Amino acid sequence: MRSLTVLGATGSIGASTLDLIRRNRDEWRVVALTAHSNAADLAGLAREFGVEIAVVADEAHLPALRDALAGSGIEAAGGPAALIEAAARGADVTVAAIVGCAGLAPTMAAIEQGGIIALANKEALVSAGEVMMAAVERYGATLLPIDSEHNAIFQCLTGNERAHVRWITLTASGGPFRDWSWERLSAATPAEAIRHPNWDMGAKISVDSATMFNKGLELIEAHYLFPVGLDRLRIIVHPQSVVHSMVEYRDGSTLAQLGPSDMRVPIASALAWPARMDTPCAPLDLAEIGELTFRKPDEVRFPATRLAREAAQAGGAIPAVLNAANEIAVAAFLGGQISFTRISAQVEDVLGSYAPPPPGSLSDVLDVDMEARARARVLVTST
Ligand code: NDP
Repeated sequence: MRSLTVLGATGSIGASTLDLIRRNRDEWRVVALTAHSNAADLAGLAREFGVEIAVVADEAHLPALRDALAGSGIEAAGGPAALIEAAARGADVTVAAIVGCAGLAPTMAAIEQGGIIALANKEALVSAGEVMMAAVERYGATLLPIDSEHNAIFQCLTGNERAHVRWITLTASGGPFRDWSWERLSAATPAEAIRHPNWDMGAKISVDSATMFNKGLELIEAHYLFPVGLDRLRIIVHPQSVVHSMVEYRDGSTLAQLGPSDMRVPIASALAWPARMDTPCAPLDLAEIGELTFRKPDEVRFPATRLAREAAQAGGAIPAVLNAANEIAVAAFLGGQISFTRISAQVEDVLGSYAPPPPGSLSDVLDVDMEARARARVLVTST
């Protein structure tokens, strides 16, 4: 039996992970499950999986969690320190599925225990970059990407030498607005932005997908996970989301990973790694799909990938600034405070105003994140 912790258990990735665990109950013992504020769903999951501890990051929801777990013998805890403590209990596999840089400190706590970290929380890696990769090395942890593109690349790289890689190509669906004019984009609503054509995901990543910041964050994520050089990382728009990414080698061979648009496939790949496990996903029916198409990204309508590439080139603290500014802009867009096209413009403005020195520790990264958020909030209120 292997032990598992899910950070962000009540979200979309959390649900997909626990669906797989539910189908293989006799192989897994669940140690800890966490949420932000959704005490009711968290308590339900904690009871179902008989966990040791359930944590709400927002302490205001701890009384509700305690009530819901009364008599179960399950420990209930709340607040950021409790979240870190739960992650630091260690598990054979920790699924890092909190959204945003809020997941960074608990993910680092899990890394320090040296187990397998199945990483969905791309904002944590984008923000902490070198600091996180150094911790993975120092504590002997294993970082397995469950972002579908990075999981695909990881699979395509297995058994091959990095030195022979010519290109790593990240595919992007292009999001719900890929064919929209600039004028139409300016008037796009949150409801339209979160209606993704291929994937069913949380609100933040859905907006990121619409702006292409998701692909920008993924470019930075790939830069840290697969250090073949930024100039060997490319993005291509592939509206069907069937080819999840590709690696081309020096001899002209391109390896790709294909699969249904269902996060249970990459999650299963990480949970079972280096073996394989069954998923309930429908098999890929290429004859039914008929056509796979590809096109170049448009960085005029969608400047996010350019901004991310520039941030990755600058390195150090700059990706953390980009991420924090984007998180604030996305929240402001979802809250009706700024327009869709202001998201990228605002991130660019914050990047132009703040260039802190490279962070040397987790606390440096969190300081950069906090300052960049403060600057982004000022822009929201002055817009
Ligand atoms: P969701 O919004 O669906 O879920 C987020 C989870 O994190 C919830 O459990 C939520 O708790 C918790 N959470 C939110 N804010 C905080 C906080 N401040 N502190 C602690 N916990 C918090 O997100 P997704 O599952 O869609 O995405 C999770 C991560 O995975 C993101 O980084 C995303 O980019 C990445 N990812 C997601 C994919 C997908 O298909 N959804 C695909 C690839 C990557 P509560 O429910 O209480 O709010």
